[in-house]
Amino acid sequence: MAGLRAAIEVKKNNLNVKVIGKRPKNDSHTVLAAGGINASFGNLDKEDSWKQHYADTFIEGYEIGDHKAIEIMAKNAKNAVFEIDSWAQIYRN
Ligand SMILES: Cc1cc2nc3c(=O)[nH]c(=O)nc-3n(C[C@H](O)[C@H](O)[C@H](O)COP(=O)(O)OP(=O)(O)OC[C@H]3O[C@@H](n4cnc5c(N)ncnc54)[C@H](O)[C@@H]3O)c2cc1C
Repeated sequence: MAGLRAAIEVKKNNLNVKVIGKRPKNDSHTVLAAGGINASFGNLDKEDSWKQHYADTFIEGYEIGDHKAIEIMAKNAKNAVFEIDSWAQIYRN
């Protein structure tokens, strides 16, 4: 996922990029993922916030997650979902 995301940025900057993996392309965790993604939108529960997402993630990770990495993820998740959705719209049209 990180490799593909980096490749997208390279391509957006009009450079050629090739992604090479160790295992078959259909055998990565990213391809196998069940399709769920979390972000705090506050649309169903107005108490929802990045801080709640942060707390849920830390607790569900048996409290061994990296605080700073979880904070960055929780703060940026909403915009990342919007970004992914904008790519989907390009393919829909
Ligand atoms: C069945 C399943 C369901 C899941 N469902 C969800 C979900 O619903 N929501 C969610 O958020 N997460 C889910 N996850 C977890 C999520 O998929 C992973 O956390 C995430 O995809 C990991 O991304 P990654 O880029 O770190 O690893 P990967 O997607 O596994 O990518 C690692 C890549 O590195 C390559 N590689 C490894 N070694 C080398 C090497 N030496 N040289 C070159 N390439 C190499 C591999 O071939 C692979 O392509 C799920 C995972 C699984 C297995």
